Amino acid sequence: MYVPMNVAGGRVPLGLKHKGLRVLVTGGSGFVGSHLVDRLIARGDSVIVVDNFFTGNKRNLVHHFGNPRFELIRHDVVEPILLEVDQIYHLACPASPTNVMGTLNMLGLAKRVNARFLITSTSEVYGDPLQHPQTESYWGNVNPIGVRSCYDEGKRVAETLTMDYHRGLKLEVRIARIFNTYGPRMGLDDGRVVSNFVAQALRKEPMTVYGDGQQTRSFQFVSDLVEGLMRLMEGDHVGPFNLGNPGEFTMMELAKVVQETIDRNAKIEFRPNTEDDPHKRKPDISKAKKYLGWEPTVSLREGLPQMVTDFRQRLSGEQDESGG
Ligand code: NAD
Ligand code: UDP
Ligand code: UDP
Repeated sequence: MYVPMNVAGGRVPLGLKHKGLRVLVTGGSGFVGSHLVDRLIARGDSVIVVDNFFTGNKRNLVHHFGNPRFELIRHDVVEPILLEVDQIYHLACPASPTNVMGTLNMLGLAKRVNARFLITSTSEVYGDPLQHPQTESYWGNVNPIGVRSCYDEGKRVAETLTMDYHRGLKLEVRIARIFNTYGPRMGLDDGRVVSNFVAQALRKEPMTVYGDGQQTRSFQFVSDLVEGLMRLMEGDHVGPFNLGNPGEFTMMELAKVVQETIDRNAKIEFRPNTEDDPHKRKPDISKAKKYLGWEPTVSLREGLPQMVTDFRQRLSGEQDESGG
């Protein structure tokens, strides 16, 4: 299932250096985290995953069970934890309180053991952006009291805390602003648009388009993201860096690509949109290209079939997707 990546920029591919680090991945049993763990284990690192299985699932990591370089700890990052590691990829985060408390604890841990700390922030820090495409220097247009604010503002605070530990305590930090990402192991019913459309089309249900479907997003395949996260961690730059695929699609266009990939006769059903839904979103990735030598290599039309294969398998059994 894992997709080999072209390495942009002609630099030494990751995996050939830094063998044998001790790496903590919080949220490592989730969608992005589990793919990241695969890469870290493959290059020879020892990986500790801390996850409370709130949205993640052990099934995503089961292939590493029994590997002495892999360890899985059921733990909520809102509670302090003592570990000895060289690097921390901090991905755990369902909502604002976890963003703040969990990030604080992981920063505290990084400070105590002098580990390099990477936070997976989000394009949502740009809110409903007034600048298009979004560069990292844009401060965003976020409603502090809206229905989406808990996540957006939580991540903004997480970035703030990260920079404070960097400036005040000289902690080595990295900030990634991740744009919409899809791929195998995505939650079947996590409510995001790509997983919704794919699951709906496979189940022969209508695809639910919110609003008029003219809002845009830019969809990145998970292997491209993981490559970007690892380059960021290993590189010399704090960021923030936008990690996303600049290919921009309206939700109607996305529905068409899903129709082409799964079922030309899949139906579309319009639903009212949620409040404060960003009208458009597209990353400017010049900074990541320049400083990380990174850019996405998998287009939506190439990546979607890989996700469909995975979803088809999981839906055919309609296995229990919940819990650890
Ligand atoms: P996910 O829900 O699949 O993974 C998150 C993981 O964190 C899950 O395994 C969950 O069980 C775990 N977790 C949640 N709360 C926890 C807690 N309190 N303690 C321990 N573990 C906890 O989501 P994902 O798509 O893999 O996202 C990973 C990271 O990337 C998140 O920080 C997310 O905000 C960020 N991100 C993702 C996207 C995307 O499109 N997938 C976009 C922007 C940002
Ligand atoms: N922390 C943790 N693991 C560690 C070190 C710290 O979980 O190995 C937590 C600690 O409990 C605190 C947070 O990280 O809640 C911030 O720690 P820091 O030392 O930066 O702040 P302080 O405890 O001095 O307020
Ligand atoms: N969306 C949609 N149908 C769905 C789920 C989402 O049309 O079944 C729209 C949603 O209104 C938003 C876009 O798809 O404009 C992306 O939503 P998602 O939740 O995937 O990501 P985010 O809003 O966080 O970018």
